[in-house]
Amino acid sequence: MGVGEVRRAVFLDRDGVLNPVVMRGGKPASPRSLSEFSLLPGAGEQVARLKGAGYRVIVVTNQPDVARGLLAQSELDAMHQALAAGAPVDEIRFCPHGDRHGCECRKPKPGMITQAAAEQGIDLAASWLVGDGYKDMAAAQAAGVKAILIEAEYNRAVEAPRRAPDLVSAVNIILEQG
Ligand SMILES: [Zn+2]
Repeated sequence: MGVGEVRRAVFLDRDGVLNPVVMRGGKPASPRSLSEFSLLPGAGEQVARLKGAGYRVIVVTNQPDVARGLLAQSELDAMHQALAAGAPVDEIRFCPHGDRHGCECRKPKPGMITQAAAEQGIDLAASWLVGDGYKDMAAAQAAGVKAILIEAEYNRAVEAPRRAPDLVSAVNIILEQG
């Protein structure tokens, strides 16, 4: 990367974007063990397309089941090793906290995005977030990145600046609009 070149990133939510959500009690939830975790078909290829276009790809995921004692850190680590083995992401950032912790990283707060930007000199206005929930869209808006909602049965009521039926289509939008 040359001096003065803009550093752009695509922030990817994890559950429902790179791996299937796990439905619990009719609601989309996060996998709690490696056996519940798998990458969606083509996820690795889509990350590679973004990388090939010069984007830094950073996963930003809320994992409050850690704070709730429902997800062991070792299982989360194993899932993230599997993720990194199947998709060439640059980095995986997660918030382990619950609502009561009042942290700055839990989406809809933009902390995971803005901290990455501050550390790595990322131009947020030239960057994107792809997610599947209102917390993703709100975090993107707060951070000042462009956002795309991947449509699912469970997020029809979520307002989003752009929508795409799947990650392939979201990456198409990013590569077309730059
Ligand atoms: Zn947090």
